[in-house]
Amino acid sequence: MRKNATFGTLLLLAAASLLLAAKEVNPLLIKVKPAKLTPPKKEALAWVDAAMPELAKLNDEIWQNAEVAMEEYRSAEALTSYLERAGFRVEKGTAGLPTAFVGTYGSGQPVIGFLAEYDALPGLSQEAATVQKPLVMGAPGHGCGHNIFGVASVASAVAVKEVMALHNIAGTLKVFGCPAEETVEGKVFMARAGVFDGLSLCIQWHPGDENSVSLGSSNALNQFEVEFFGRTAHSAGDPWHGRSALDGIELTDVGLNFLREHLQPTARIHYVILDGGGAPNVVPDHALAWYYVRDLDRESVEKDYERVLQVIEGAAKMSGTTYKIHFQSGVHETLANRAGGEVVYSNLLLVGAPAFSGDEQTFAKEIQKNLGLEEKGLTTKVEPFSLPERSWGSGSTDVAEVSWLTPTTDLGVAFTPLGTPGHHWSAVACSGMSIGHKCLAVAAKVMAASCLDFLAQPEVVNKMREEWAARKKGREYKSPLPSDLQPRTVPRKEGKA
Ligand SMILES: [Zn+2]
Repeated sequence: MRKNATFGTLLLLAAASLLLAAKEVNPLLIKVKPAKLTPPKKEALAWVDAAMPELAKLNDEIWQNAEVAMEEYRSAEALTSYLERAGFRVEKGTAGLPTAFVGTYGSGQPVIGFLAEYDALPGLSQEAATVQKPLVMGAPGHGCGHNIFGVASVASAVAVKEVMALHNIAGTLKVFGCPAEETVEGKVFMARAGVFDGLSLCIQWHPGDENSVSLGSSNALNQFEVEFFGRTAHSAGDPWHGRSALDGIELTDVGLNFLREHLQPTARIHYVILDGGGAPNVVPDHALAWYYVRDLDRESVEKDYERVLQVIEGAAKMSGTTYKIHFQSGVHETLANRAGGEVVYSNLLLVGAPAFSGDEQTFAKEIQKNLGLEEKGLTTKVEPFSLPERSWGSGSTDVAEVSWLTPTTDLGVAFTPLGTPGHHWSAVACSGMSIGHKCLAVAAKVMAASCLDFLAQPEVVNKMREEWAARKKGREYKSPLPSDLQPRTVPRKEGKA
C-alpha cells in the first residue's frame, strides 16, 4: 500500500511536470533557423561596417536638424543627396509632397521597396544626455527614432546595390522617402497616387526597445476635425440670441460617449478640443475639435465613422449650429506577412542583437534611474518569433497602406532603454549617439541580408505574394482619402539652408 502510494505520487509528479513543460511551450511560437551567411551577404554586411562612420554622421545630422511632419526639407535632402552619390536615380516631391522622394536603382524583376521615414516630434528637442535637457528649447526632437529609421533604410538599399552591381544581379530597388508618418499622412497620399504600385514586396522596419519581427496588425483609423459655427451673443445679457459652437462640440462628445456602448468593443474614439471659444461671457460662434476613430479593420472604421457623422449631425441640430468636417487622413489595418517575416527573422538571428558596450548600458541605466524605472539597461536578446496573440494592434500606422499594395515585412531593432515611454526625450537622447548608431547598423544589415535572400529566392517571393493575396480575401486597395483631398503641405521656411 505504502509502495503503491509512492508510485502513485511519482506518477502524479511526472504527469504534473509534463503538463508544466507543455505549458511552457508557446503554441504560437514559430521555429526559424538563422539564415546562411552567403558570400554576397558577407559583402553587404562588410559594406555597412565600412560605411558606418559616414552613416553615423548622416544619422546625427538628421537628428540635429529634427524637422516635424511635412517640414522635413533638410532631412529629405540629406538622404536624397546620399542616394544620388551612391548611384540611385532620385525623384523628389513625389505625390505632391515636397519632402517625399523615390530613389531607384537597377531594372527588371523583382522590384523591392524600402520604406524610409524621417519626421520628428514637436517639442521633444533633447541632448544626448541622461536627464531631460533640450538642445533647442521648444524645438522638435526624434522621439520615435525616425532619424535612424531613414538612414538605416537608405543604407540597406545602398549595401544591396553595391553587391548587385558587383555580381550583376538583376532586379530593381526602390527607396521610398515617406514624410509625415507621425501625423499618419505621408504614405496614405503616396499610396493614393500609385507610388507603391508594381512592387514585388516591401521591406520596412522601426527602431524601438526590442529586437523582433512582428506578425501583428495595427488598427484602421479615420482622423478628422469638426468645425462648428454658431452665433455670438452676451452670455448674460442676451444669450437667447446666441448659438454656441462649443455646445455643438460638447453635444457631439456626449453623444459619442453614449455611442461607445453600442459599438463593437474593438472601436476606439478619442478627441481633443482645439478651440472652445475665448471667454465664458461670450457665446462662442466658432469651435474646433479633432477626432480619431479606430477599429479592427477598414470596414469597421467606416461603419463606426458613419454613426459618428450621425451624432455630429444631431449635435448641430440640438445646438442650432452648422458644421464642417475636415477629413485629414485614414489608414487600413496592417496585413502581416509570415513568409517574408521568416526570412527577416532568420537574418536577424544571423546578424544578432546590437552589442551595446558597458558605457552604453550605463547610459541607459542612468536614464532608467532618473525616470524611476527598473535599471534593466538595453536589451541584448532577440525576441522569439511567434504568431500574434491577437489579430489587431492598438496603434495605427500608414505602413498599413503599403501592406495592402504589396507583401510588406517588419523588423524592430532596439535603441531605447527597457521600460521607457515612446515619443519621449529618452528616445531622442539615445537616437543621437552610439546607441542609435549600433541600432542603425543592425537594422541596415538585417534588411540588406533579407533583400539579398529575396533576390536569390524567387520562390520565397512567390510564397509571400500568395500569402498576401490570401490575406486580402479578394478585397482591392481603396484609398481611405476623399478623392479631392489635397495633402497638407508646409512651405519651406525662409532662411533655412
Ligand atoms: Zn515612429
